[in-house]
Amino acid sequence: MYRSHTCGELKIGDITKQVTLAGWVQTIRKFGAITFVDLRDRYGITQLLFGENLNAELDAAPLGREFVIQATGIVSERSNKNPNISTGDIEIAVSSYKILNKSAVPPFTIQDDTDGGDDLRMKYRFLDLRRNAVKKNLELRYAVNRSARNYLHENQFMDIETPFLIKSTPEGARDFVVPSRMNAGQFYALPQSPQTFKQLLMVSGYDRYYQIVKCFRDEDLRADRQPEFTQIDCEMSFVEQEDILLMFENLIKRIFKDVKGIDYTEYIERMSWEEAMWQYGNDKPDIRFGMKLANLKFPLHSFPNKIAHLQSSLIGIGDCGFSVFDNAETVVAIAVSGCSEYTRKQIDELTEWVKRPQIGMQGMVYIKCSADGSYKSSVDKFFTEDKLKGIADKADAQAGDLVFILAGREERTRKAASELRLEMGKRLGLRKENEFKLLWVLDFPLFEYTEDDNRWVARHHPFTSPKPDHIAVMINNNPLIEQADKYLEHPYANIKANAYDMVLNGNEIGGGSIRIYQRELQEKMFAALGMSEEEALHKFGFLLGAFEYGAPPHGGIAFGFDRLCSILGGSESIRDFIAFPKNNSGRDVMLDAPSTIDDKQFEELQIQLNLK
Ligand code: ASP
Repeated sequence: MYRSHTCGELKIGDITKQVTLAGWVQTIRKFGAITFVDLRDRYGITQLLFGENLNAELDAAPLGREFVIQATGIVSERSNKNPNISTGDIEIAVSSYKILNKSAVPPFTIQDDTDGGDDLRMKYRFLDLRRNAVKKNLELRYAVNRSARNYLHENQFMDIETPFLIKSTPEGARDFVVPSRMNAGQFYALPQSPQTFKQLLMVSGYDRYYQIVKCFRDEDLRADRQPEFTQIDCEMSFVEQEDILLMFENLIKRIFKDVKGIDYTEYIERMSWEEAMWQYGNDKPDIRFGMKLANLKFPLHSFPNKIAHLQSSLIGIGDCGFSVFDNAETVVAIAVSGCSEYTRKQIDELTEWVKRPQIGMQGMVYIKCSADGSYKSSVDKFFTEDKLKGIADKADAQAGDLVFILAGREERTRKAASELRLEMGKRLGLRKENEFKLLWVLDFPLFEYTEDDNRWVARHHPFTSPKPDHIAVMINNNPLIEQADKYLEHPYANIKANAYDMVLNGNEIGGGSIRIYQRELQEKMFAALGMSEEEALHKFGFLLGAFEYGAPPHGGIAFGFDRLCSILGGSESIRDFIAFPKNNSGRDVMLDAPSTIDDKQFEELQIQLNLK
C-alpha cells in the first residue's frame, strides 16, 4: 500500500491516527533540528514534521523539491494552524519515510504564483499541470463535461463516435490532411467538425446525437485559437428552430447550475442578426451593458428594415459641411456614461486607440455633455449647440456623458464602434466577471459575398437551410452576381438562414442551424456556392445520396467547449483550460511538434518534399 489517505483529507478529527501519505515535496523548511515539508498531491497539501530522530537519515538522503516520497506517521494537532488549506489544523509527525523517486530542480516554482513565464510553462506543461491554478481549470472542464453529458443523457441523446480520418468537409477553414500509406497519393482530412456524420446519423434514425469531440481547423491562429479544439456537438431530428433553442438553452442553464451554482432563470433574450449589428455593431454583442450605437448615417442596403428610422430621425448629418461626415458611408455614435470630464490627454489616448491598425479609423469626434447642460465638441465649427444636442440625444447621452462619433466605410466603422464600446465597457468596469448574460442571435444572412472570386460563400456552412419563406427566392434565382459592386442588390443578399448562435458575455459559445434535408435544395446550395455538379458529387455524393433514402427534417448545434470553460472559469485564454495546448504558432512546444519525419516514412508514403 502506497498511501492510506490523500494529502487533502486529514482533519482535526483524525488526530492520533497512524497514516501513510504519498506525494510531491512542495517546500522544505528547516528550523534547527526539525524539518517541515509540505507534501502535495492532487487533493491538497499536508504538512509533514520530520523530528530530530530523522536528521541523520535526511542528511544521508536529502529531500528536494518535487521529489516523490512516501511518509508514515501520526496525525497531530498543529501549534501554528493554517486556515488557508483544508488540512491546516494538523500535521504528520513522521516516523519513517521513503524516497520513491527523485526530481531534478524544476525550472519554475510549482506554486500558485509561479516564477515561470508562459513559454517555459508550456515546455514543461506536465509540471505546470501540478499547479493549483491549472488543476482547478481542468477540474472545471471536467465538471462542465459531466454536466453536459448528464443533461444530454437524461434527454435521450446518444453519444456516438465519428471518424477522424475522413474526407474533407469544407466549413470555411482549411483542412489538416493525413497521407494514406495504403492508398499512396491519397489523403484523409481531419474533420473540421463531425457535421456530415451527425446528419447521416439522423438519416439512420438516431434522432438525438451528441459527442464531446475534437475538431481540427488549419487556420492562421488569431489570438487564443487552437488548431485542435473541442465541441459539444449535437443534432436532433424532427425539430424546428424553437425546439433546438429550448433544448440547448436548458443545457447551458444546467451547466451554470451544476458548475457555478447559478440559477439562470432569466429569459434568454433573442435578437436578429440585423438588430445586433444595428445596436451593437457586432453579431455577438455583450449585453451586460448598454452603450448602444446611435446610427446617425448608414447605407440603406445594409439595413433595409431601418428606412423608417432614417426618415424619423434625420438630424442633418451628411450635409453639414464637415467633409468627414459628408463623405462617410456610415456615422455612428456611442455615449459613454459619466465621462464628460475626460481630459484632452485621455481623449487623445482614445483617439490613438481607434487609429491603431487593428481598429483602422482615421480619427474620432467627441461631444462633451456637461453637467450644466452645455455641449462642447471637437467639431464646434460645423455644428450649432442645438445640433450637438440632437446628436447627443440620439445617442441617449445624459448630462455628464461623453459622446464619441466615428465615421467612414460601413463595415469598418461599425466594427470600430463595436470595439470602442467593448473597450469603454471594460475600462468602466461594466463587463463584470461574475455576471453571465446569454443571448440568442438569429436570422443570419445565409450567404456572404466574397470579393476574391465574386461569388457567394455560406455564412455558417453549406448544410444550413434558408428560412422556410426564403427557399423560393433561393430556388428561383440565378446565383450569378453580374455586377460585383451591386451584390447587395442581388436577391441572395437578403436570404436569411435558419441559423442561430448562442452568445455569452460577448462570446459566441455555440452555433448551429436547421439543415437542408432535400437533395434538390442541397444541390441548389452547392451550385449557389459556385460548385459544379461534378464537384458537388465528388465531394458530397454520399450526403446527396443519403438524402434520397428518407432523410428526416433535422437540425443541431455545436458549442465551443474550451471557450465555454474559459468563460465560466473567468479567464480570457482557452489554453488555460486545455491540458496540453498549442502555442500561437500552432506548436506543441513540449513535444516540439510539428516536426520532420524519417526518410523511411516518406518512402513508405511515397512522398517527396518540395519545400519552396
Ligand atoms: N458543425 C457546425 C460548426 O462546427 C455546428 C453546427 O452547425 O452544428 O460550426
